[in-house]
Amino acid sequence: MEALPSTDMPACPICTMTDLLDGGGYHECATCGHEWDKAQPDELTVLDANGKQLSNGDNVTLVKDLKINGKSGRLKAGTKIKSIRLVDGDHPIDGKVDGRSMLIKAEFVKFA
Ligand SMILES: [Zn+2]
Repeated sequence: MEALPSTDMPACPICTMTDLLDGGGYHECATCGHEWDKAQPDELTVLDANGKQLSNGDNVTLVKDLKINGKSGRLKAGTKIKSIRLVDGDHPIDGKVDGRSMLIKAEFVKFA
């Protein structure tokens, strides 16, 4: 069994004890019996070139030319990317350009 870092340990909202039972989709407090849904993962904080927070489904525009791997060369500044999805990592913008899915650094785009 893996030891979890203590900072990841949720506490019971009722009695604040951390002795929890895992009920699958919910936590159960071993101390007072309170049950609650597991917290959703924190929303990713992804800031665009202007420091504006981006959300899933946003449309963005490239602020600089980007080289892309493969034959298709580069993406031009000003290229629109619609309905982005945010992912974890150092290239947190997952979007489609010309039907191709790609991952882009957040500082290379701005909210459109
Ligand atoms: Zn409790």
